[in-house]
Amino acid sequence: MMAPPPRSPRKAALSDKASKAAPEPAKPAAGDLAPLRQRQAKARAVIAALRAEFPDTRCSLEHGDGWQLLVATILSAQCTDARVNLVTPGLFRQFPTPVDFAAAPIEEIEEAIRSTGFYRNKAKSLQGAARHLLEHHDGRLPEDIEELVKVPGCGRKTANVVLGEVYGAPAGVVVDTHVGRISRKLGLTDQDDPVKAERQLNACVPQADWRDFGHLIIDHGRKTCQARSPKCDDCGLYRWCVARS
Ligand code: SF4
Repeated sequence: MMAPPPRSPRKAALSDKASKAAPEPAKPAAGDLAPLRQRQAKARAVIAALRAEFPDTRCSLEHGDGWQLLVATILSAQCTDARVNLVTPGLFRQFPTPVDFAAAPIEEIEEAIRSTGFYRNKAKSLQGAARHLLEHHDGRLPEDIEELVKVPGCGRKTANVVLGEVYGAPAGVVVDTHVGRISRKLGLTDQDDPVKAERQLNACVPQADWRDFGHLIIDHGRKTCQARSPKCDDCGLYRWCVARS
């Protein structure tokens, strides 16, 4: 008879844990956060683990300059980055500059971005952003968040993406759906609201890591902590997670 394959230490630990019928760790709840110093230590450990796993982490929206990144980030709402990356090369050939976006018939922009979803609202944001930048900033991107969030279609998340990638100086952690979701699982925030979650994350993530934290967490979400079926069995962040299964 063949011997059973050796269990990985990870799986063995899980199996032993299950056999003792250990209670499932509590899900994070509002007001149930560890003290700030513990969360700071955890954030540093999580970042180190993810940097080792994803040494080449970077923004997955392809872009040639700040304006293109702003456009791509607006298009990425409710859409995958892969889909946006399929659409933007043709879009920027058709409308190379903010001047072209500002002057175009809105229906032409809508048609060019239709496959990213919510294309009417997005086209309105893109044209509004182009006109706003031309009117108030000579067609360039402002460097501070207070001005950036006045650009149509540009909320704090988008502004932090642009500030981080273009100027290397985000005003905080980029909090999208996945960053918020996984940060709650890790007990780094207990907030659903992205602005409140950003405030808590800014307090525990070192400022030098604000830009990459979002990229790293998104990489982790794609590879391991998928929303519908997280692979807790193979997760390098298991020990820090308060929502593991
Ligand atoms: S242990 Fe599971 S829920 Fe927690 S971060 Fe890892 S994959 Fe996500």
